Amino acid sequence: MNYDRILIRYGEMSTKGRNRSKFVEKLSNSIRGALHDFPKVIIKGNRDRTYVILNGEDGKQICERLTGVFGIQSFSPVIKTGKDLNEMKDAVLDLFKEVHHEGQTFKITTKRADKTYFMDTGELNHQFGSHILQNVPNLKVDVKKPDLNMQIEIRKEAAYISCQTIQGAGGLPAGSSGKAMLMLSGGIDSPVAGFLSLKRGLDIEGVHFFSPPYTSERAKQKVLDLAEKLSNFNGRFVVHIVPFTEIQQIIQKQIPENYTMTTTRRLMLRITDAIRAKQEALAIVTGESLGQVASQTIESMFAINEVTNTPILRPLVMMDKSDIVSLAQEIGTHDISIRPFEDCCTIFVPPSPKTKPKREKVTHYESYFDFEPYIQKAVDGIETIIVKPNSNKLDVFDELF
Ligand code: ATP
Ligand code: MG
Repeated sequence: MNYDRILIRYGEMSTKGRNRSKFVEKLSNSIRGALHDFPKVIIKGNRDRTYVILNGEDGKQICERLTGVFGIQSFSPVIKTGKDLNEMKDAVLDLFKEVHHEGQTFKITTKRADKTYFMDTGELNHQFGSHILQNVPNLKVDVKKPDLNMQIEIRKEAAYISCQTIQGAGGLPAGSSGKAMLMLSGGIDSPVAGFLSLKRGLDIEGVHFFSPPYTSERAKQKVLDLAEKLSNFNGRFVVHIVPFTEIQQIIQKQIPENYTMTTTRRLMLRITDAIRAKQEALAIVTGESLGQVASQTIESMFAINEVTNTPILRPLVMMDKSDIVSLAQEIGTHDISIRPFEDCCTIFVPPSPKTKPKREKVTHYESYFDFEPYIQKAVDGIETIIVKPNSNKLDVFDELF
């Protein structure tokens, strides 16, 4: 095909008024990231659309990449031509001959963004349609449900011809919704919550609670492998590994057994919130789903949530497990999540955790012990790891801050 560019449509973000130029810039950055190994492409974004000019690079591979970029509603491979009528007619016919299969019906849709053009859309449709009919035998027009819709758009600077619209990933461009911390366990749910957050334009960093020697290096590697999957969407993913053993041991000693789970969750949230403040993020994302386990009843959420007024985003809260599993399979995290390594929360889980904990009781139990220095110690002991796509090599920073 002689396509020379790809036209990208924004969908939802085009409604964002004054912020639009920021959105367009973020989208251009994401596209540039997704196409980093196609050095010759040129990306030109404006208020209404973005063009990826191929400049000799492989259009098919580039289209495949674009299907994974958040913030793209749809896109079309396009041929740019001059606005001379005969030049356009020939270009439309050439493209038609390349893409048309025997027996397919077609129609012409002309759009005239340049209102000064000397013919109107009715006349133009007729010109292009009859030129094709004269040159290709046995063709049928179908204006209602054509197999092939040849679209010609005449703009000020040139005309653009396309005949395919490919569905984009939707969502909002990476980083356009600000930053949040994702509580990332090794389970099925939290990576999916992370994916949905990224799709909605949130920049996220993972926080993982790790309790050696109760949880092994392999459990940690599992989390890093999940992080690697998530890094595919943005080019990198930062995970903060929090040493949690000491706090869990204190909880076992200090808190009545049926409330240990509630307190554990409250402390995880307090620590995550402290890291959030340090990292200048404005929300916390979890993989909780209403009623899934004891810690996710509405009573538990009420008791746990008390420790912070930072927004807690729960993208999966109303989803059924089977739908979460399907999404996990789609994004490639499921098979990693089901590896049988222990999580810090399952190790210490009491035989009968309270499914309806009371705020008053849990605050009372916690009041006998000052957890604050231990929270600070855990935050100070964080190991921060930057994970990049397809790399087993990790850049390890003990002190990023
Ligand atoms: P997941 O599949 O995400 O592990 P789950 O169904 O196993 O979820 P829980 O273990 O109750 O449910 O965890 C609920 C949420 O708490 C998780 O989705 C995650 O956001 C957070 N969480 C649990 N364990 C950890 C951990 N070790 N480190 C960080 N966050 C955690
Ligand atoms: Mg879990």
